[in-house]
Amino acid sequence: MLSLDNFITGSRDNLSMLGENPDFEFRQANVNEHVAVDGDVRYVLHFASPASPPQYDANPIHTLKVGTLGTMNMLGLARAKNATFLLASTSEVYGDPLVHPQPETYWGNVNPIGPRGCYDEAKRCAEAFAMAYHRAHGVDTRIIRIFNTHGPRMQVLDGRAVPNFMAQAIRGQPLTVYGDGSQTRSLCYVSDLVRGVLAVLEKGDDMPVNLGNPEEVTVLELAQIIVRLAGSSSAIEFRPLPVDDPKQRRPDIARARKLLEWQPEVPLEDGLARTLEYFRRVV
Ligand code: UDP
Repeated sequence: MLSLDNFITGSRDNLSMLGENPDFEFRQANVNEHVAVDGDVRYVLHFASPASPPQYDANPIHTLKVGTLGTMNMLGLARAKNATFLLASTSEVYGDPLVHPQPETYWGNVNPIGPRGCYDEAKRCAEAFAMAYHRAHGVDTRIIRIFNTHGPRMQVLDGRAVPNFMAQAIRGQPLTVYGDGSQTRSLCYVSDLVRGVLAVLEKGDDMPVNLGNPEEVTVLELAQIIVRLAGSSSAIEFRPLPVDDPKQRRPDIARARKLLEWQPEVPLEDGLARTLEYFRRVV
């Protein structure tokens, strides 16, 4: 396995456990530029992109490039190697959804010129690229739409709700809930997501498939659960809601259930407890 990362948001430390593995090779590279790979390639998994709102807000041009040029380059690699290509797309293609829960057939409600546009539109373009290479060049493509996911090895300074709330609860600082906390998210534990990704490679087709956990909570509930799991005495503090923050988000996973015989197995609180164990070690 060859892994490429430019560490814009990733971390070298996360690779340390793979250092001894003779089947794993790492190269620091930017997929927005041409990447030459020797030998046969069976799968190209394109996960590169900042994925946290403050991080893509800090790198908007890079985020646009990796979704567009990066996707084109990785599709080109898959085409040249006759490999299966998988695009890590996102629930953000649904924007601030007017249909709830979100099935793959929903086209979304995205503001192209808002602060999230650099990410949402890049991923929407990435999906269009994947379909174009599939239709025009016959590349074997997969598109997964990943809903909010968490797990060990997220960065403490990632900026998303789970890392922020966990670090704040562990430090006894107030948890920063944006808006009134009534907006909802549905959180998937990383091991369930990884099983889903592997199932898509094995059994998927070229049409997009949602991967996420339909267990929906408000952001305020999420903060309260994390305070309780951490045994913390942190207060909750309300901060301004970021522009275009989606009001609700929950995957309809009927397609994944049928096509992949997949569904999440880790309940919300069990997953959060596992992620919290990791944050206790690093905060
Ligand atoms: N959020 C929050 N406090 C934080 C970070 C995030 O209340 O410190 C909210 C954010 O406004 C959003 C939800 O939590 O409504 C999930 O945000 P996240 O950044 O995790 O991902 P998103 O689903 O927005 O991409």
